[in-house]
Amino acid sequence: MNLILLGPPGAGKGTQAEKLSEICEIPHISTGDILRENIRQGTQLGMEARQYMEKGELVPDAVVIGIIRDRLKEPDCEKGFILDGFPRTVEQADALKKILREMGRPIEHVIDIDVPDDVVVERLSARRVCDSCGAVKHLIYNPPREEGVCDECRGVLYQRADDNPETIRERLREYKKKTQPLIDYYRVEGLLREVDGSLEMDQVLKEICSVIER
Ligand code: AMP
Repeated sequence: MNLILLGPPGAGKGTQAEKLSEICEIPHISTGDILRENIRQGTQLGMEARQYMEKGELVPDAVVIGIIRDRLKEPDCEKGFILDGFPRTVEQADALKKILREMGRPIEHVIDIDVPDDVVVERLSARRVCDSCGAVKHLIYNPPREEGVCDECRGVLYQRADDNPETIRERLREYKKKTQPLIDYYRVEGLLREVDGSLEMDQVLKEICSVIER
């Protein structure tokens, strides 16, 4: 199954993609995670991406399209994949369509996880991520048992550099200007399925599964 998860930052795309990846046994591909890993390793790509990510701006299309083109060719994608955070612009969506056409692998569902702006800001400001296993916590709704320590692997919980109020606002602006047009793009293609992302995470997962099964 080939899936795209759409939705603003903080919609829960990463959390849902992780769960779906386990259920469907297909890889979760997050361009944000790949870029952050490149920043951590100090690669040329990471150094270029960092200047955009710190400001909450999108990394140039050519960079992320190249990442996805290479990643989709890896053998673990043969059974399918879940794209989280890609595509984010019409140019990326067009490029993806071309790449998948060449591979003979059409997109089956585009799931739009919709959440209002105030929920986005509230979720992202209190989000903490494990630097070791990538687990995501919320300081109020899903706090770690021990402050600053991951329950799963005892790694260090940190706040993403772009999860501060000013950058969150910029990310939302970028989303509305450049990514929201993809909702109509995929609606026209008959691929769009919408779910309410303001519900509890488990409920959202149930909705996504029922949409996929239908
Ligand atoms: P995310 O982890 O999906 O919230 O992405 C974090 C940041 O990585 C974004 O704010 C962008 O700066 C960058 N990024 C991730 N995916 C893309 C993409 N498909 N196109 C452009 N920039 C991206």
